[in-house]
Amino acid sequence: MREFGFELSLCAVLEAAGEPMARGHSEVEATPNGRSEADATPSDGSETTPIVARQLGGGVARPGGRVLDTVLVEPGPTFDERATITSDRIPQVVIDADLGPGRARRVTDALDCRPDRARSIAEHAAEIGVLELERRSGHLHARQTARYPADWFGEIVGIENKPDLGTPGALETQLRTDASLGLVDRIVLATESYVTGAHRNRIPDEVGIWRFDPDDGELTVIRDAEHLAVADSGVEILDRQPGRADVAIASPADKRRARRRIAERAYGKGWRTFSFPNCGEIEPRSEHDDVQLPWCAWKNRLVDPASECGPDCPGFDPGDPPAVDPAADRAAASPWVADPDGHKRDQVGLDRY
Ligand code: SF4
Repeated sequence: MREFGFELSLCAVLEAAGEPMARGHSEVEATPNGRSEADATPSDGSETTPIVARQLGGGVARPGGRVLDTVLVEPGPTFDERATITSDRIPQVVIDADLGPGRARRVTDALDCRPDRARSIAEHAAEIGVLELERRSGHLHARQTARYPADWFGEIVGIENKPDLGTPGALETQLRTDASLGLVDRIVLATESYVTGAHRNRIPDEVGIWRFDPDDGELTVIRDAEHLAVADSGVEILDRQPGRADVAIASPADKRRARRRIAERAYGKGWRTFSFPNCGEIEPRSEHDDVQLPWCAWKNRLVDPASECGPDCPGFDPGDPPAVDPAADRAAASPWVADPDGHKRDQVGLDRY
């Protein structure tokens, strides 16, 4: 299977069944209703269903220099408080701002960026329910709608999807970079291939290995991932040439900030980042559960609508796109809250003040 379809199928199973290591399972399999056989809530009452997202920057000095295919973010103790604030990603500069729910401050003083950008970000933050704005003496002031809960997320797992180990590309370098940087708690390689001893020897010891069959949704842990030293400094490989490598040292504080950025992006973005094409051949389904994925009847497989669909496709059959509500699907299948109402959500603009 192509990497896009493999990735979507894996995301669907992980959202339905959770991460196998977190559950102590060696295998997970999605059920027809999209949830795992085991209850999603363990005996201590905490939520274990992770936030699942795909294609997130996994660097520190160069965030987009390494893109993590799939990311799992485990809910932390104050997850519910975070979910109550907004369904969107909260901008880093707003989290870092010297603001609280009490006294309002001038946004150009509180946000560490250019004044025009500070005003624009503050307005966006108000639109998504994170800040409340008011104008005083002609200047825009802001306060938080709620204090930001720093420990809303727990462990972060990065997954490199490589369905076919016969075409590894830069796989080994990518995994060695992840292991030496230690930005996420664990790194896993997911593949559809049979994993040989030669493959194992080329994959860093810290990296876990999962074998995943996208046709039946069965996920088998071949090797557990080791915990990486997320609280220590890490080495980020920025560029590697024969005989030399450019690196940057990521401090523990840099990594804490980057981890929060990843968690926020994962919460806001999720993994349903595709849209369904206006083609009569598209059928929202997957092969092994009722998750709505872009299945093409003409190609008889999952397709990437952004790169494969449109009038240039020989099978294109113009029609209305299917009625699918990805946000409702995500809210039903994960702890993400689509439309929190715990805090004020004024859709405001500067001209209102
Ligand atoms: S445009 Fe082509 S690939 Fe996309 S759904 Fe239609 S037939 Fe399938």
